[in-house]
Amino acid sequence: MKDAAGQERGDGRRAVVIGAGFGGIALAIRLQAAGFQTVLVEKRDKPGGRAYVYEDQGFVFDAGPTVITDPTALEELFAVCGRKLADYVELLPVSPFYRLCWEDGYAFDYANDQAELDRQIQAKSPADVAGYQRFLAYSKEVFREGYEKLGTVPFLSFRDMIQAGPQLARLQAWRSVYAKVSEFISDDQLRQAFSFHSLLVGGNPFATSSIYALIHALERQWGVWFPRGGTGALIRGLVRLFEDMGGQVELSAEVAAIETSGGRASAVLLKDGRRFPADCVASNADVVHTYGGLLGGTDRGRKEAKRLKSKRFSMSLFVIYFGLKTHRPELKHHTVLFGARYRELISEIFKGKELPGDFSLYLHNPCVTDPSLAPPGAGSFYVLSPVPHLGNAAIDWAVEGPKYRDRIFDYMEARYIPNLKADLVTSRIFTPFDFRDELNSHLGSAFSLDPVLTQSAWFRPHNRDGEIPNLYLVGAGTHPGAGVPGVVGSAKATAGLMIADAGR
Ligand SMILES: Cc1cc2nc3c(=O)[nH]c(=O)nc-3n(C[C@H](O)[C@H](O)[C@H](O)COP(=O)(O)OP(=O)(O)OC[C@H]3O[C@@H](n4cnc5c(N)ncnc54)[C@H](O)[C@@H]3O)c2cc1C
Repeated sequence: MKDAAGQERGDGRRAVVIGAGFGGIALAIRLQAAGFQTVLVEKRDKPGGRAYVYEDQGFVFDAGPTVITDPTALEELFAVCGRKLADYVELLPVSPFYRLCWEDGYAFDYANDQAELDRQIQAKSPADVAGYQRFLAYSKEVFREGYEKLGTVPFLSFRDMIQAGPQLARLQAWRSVYAKVSEFISDDQLRQAFSFHSLLVGGNPFATSSIYALIHALERQWGVWFPRGGTGALIRGLVRLFEDMGGQVELSAEVAAIETSGGRASAVLLKDGRRFPADCVASNADVVHTYGGLLGGTDRGRKEAKRLKSKRFSMSLFVIYFGLKTHRPELKHHTVLFGARYRELISEIFKGKELPGDFSLYLHNPCVTDPSLAPPGAGSFYVLSPVPHLGNAAIDWAVEGPKYRDRIFDYMEARYIPNLKADLVTSRIFTPFDFRDELNSHLGSAFSLDPVLTQSAWFRPHNRDGEIPNLYLVGAGTHPGAGVPGVVGSAKATAGLMIADAGR
């Protein structure tokens, strides 16, 4: 059905979106704005998925994404509803983007200031100033080709992949991020500084396609932002937008099954027995859970789950949320604490069978940007350590988790946060077991399928199922992949298909 402007419309069709992660919420907004009657059903008691929020004794902890990039993709969600992002949430700039610290005491402030970047690169490795410029030019080109042109286009047929082939070949997409960075930059620590970004979306810099070097240009282009009130405030703003548009949100509503009839998805059945009839269904839940769990009663579900289980999955994470009675303004908002080993440690995280003895950490200190996230004078933090997923390393996290937390606290207290343990007011951990049990993530992976080239674009689970024509995917497990810009882009790709299909 088309409206007067020739646009396809949902025309009151009933859409059910399973899972209220960034991708699910963004899709629900787009569908509701296009005229679908949309219901968003979420297992947990709050929306957000990986962007859940914990609150304890006046401390507010964003559970997951904290580096908010590409605000234009978020603004577009409000624009399709005829609204403005600024009326729902305030985005605060973060500077520097990150401070990167090494154990030998070297620190690099990665800022959006060319002169400042040049000064730091010059001081560290004069030969790399020109190399960085060439890396930036390369990164901008992959950003244009990989993100702007292909990031929100659903790859449904191999022809789509072939069409993208020449660009991918020209950009040497088969090479790894690290190999490409090393072509331009010679200093070992600067190579780490400009290649670690793919880890933010679950990609091993030594295996992930150099296309992921685009993250650097994306950050330089639009900056790094943090919502006032935390990432949770952005989630709340998006959910309010959806509800303002007439959408329906059901929390504590775990889906048991996607029902099918005549080869089509016909309803979504909750564990508590409620049933939502649907003209179309989209799943933001983990892709293996979607096929093996929610569609486990169908041939299609069993076959696809089996196929997906043979894929490579991204690493997991171990996260500690902790509140200190003292604010630590000397620590930047985002800090990466590199350990002594880089390549070897990453290899053990992605392929190892045990928990490595050392770690590289990301530390979040949001109170330097927004002090309201902790009681007056106090500081709320989280620290995360990438760890192997449960399919690679059979670690009993119920036993090892508390021990691993203590090791990380000891390390940070010795090097970066004096008196951490004396100042500790509260802490909680989130382990690979929680990714598996709370978020239904296959093998406890934090980012779904590993974003290597052979599992990207057409090779990733498609935004529309190949056999059930009114079943769709959105989020980290489908194209383009993990990370907030990725899953918000996947919502655009999936919504485009659903709206077009409704018009047929
Ligand atoms: C600790 C951490 C830090 C991160 N930091 C960043 C960052 O700084 N910047 C960035 O861009 N990205 C970051 N990421 C990645 C980013 O958060 C994710 O890729 C993205 O949020 C995933 O969104 P999604 O749409 O795939 O849904 P998810 O967040 O995975 O949500 C899926 C939802 O589905 C629900 N669900 C599952 N099964 C069912 C069921 N049966 N019934 C109903 N609901 C169900 C789950 O409860 C969940 O709410 C981070 C990730 C983690 C874990």
